[in-house]
Amino acid sequence: MKLRGVLLDLDGTLVDHESAAAAGLRAWLPSLGLAPTDEAVARWSTLQEAHLAAWRAGRISFAEQRRRRLRDFLGTGGSDAELDEVFAGYLTHYEREWRAYDDVAGALATIAAAGLGTAVLTNGTRDQQRCKLAATGLGGRVGPIYTIDDLGVAKPHPDAFRRACARWGLAPGAVLSVGDDHALDVLGARAAGLRAAHLDRLGRGPAGEAHRIASLAELGGLLSSGGGRDRAV
Ligand SMILES: [Mg+2]
Repeated sequence: MKLRGVLLDLDGTLVDHESAAAAGLRAWLPSLGLAPTDEAVARWSTLQEAHLAAWRAGRISFAEQRRRRLRDFLGTGGSDAELDEVFAGYLTHYEREWRAYDDVAGALATIAAAGLGTAVLTNGTRDQQRCKLAATGLGGRVGPIYTIDDLGVAKPHPDAFRRACARWGLAPGAVLSVGDDHALDVLGARAAGLRAAHLDRLGRGPAGEAHRIASLAELGGLLSSGGGRDRAV
């Protein structure tokens, strides 16, 4: 089947969430009288993943995962309204740090030159991810955006990919998924019948992945590479 489109992940693929979260946290902590240490950044990241996972599984609301993250991080209580206000301070700093990776503009041009469409599939919320794309200059340049809010299911569930492709109007076999999380963006996509390539920006592996690129700048080579039954594209 002919390749028709590239389905891109957002955080860690188009926008550097990890750096934004770390920088945002470091800028915000002093306002709480806390030191912006490496340990604090690591703990925030761990708590973020744990509580986001509960939200993605549908067990708690998006607002509640933020409150739980904050309660665990600060070791304090507080009403929902109080916690929401404190979290808003972090959000201001986090959003200020949103940046698209340097290789995104070139990759979008390469995809367009190959005659392929683009869309975004993200395990984030509709509002925040649309704001993120707009703030980083990518809004309107990446095709349709599919979120958990839109699809009702999160990656790596194959239905997230199937529903995104159905809405996009493309057969799964005509779509290449590209993302930084191997389990979510590669294995999940393949389980739904898509082709997939792992964007391994930090060299974290797995090393055995045959279709691995270290930068979106390598996407052109991937798109123009030849045959083979298990080829990525
Ligand atoms: Mg990602």
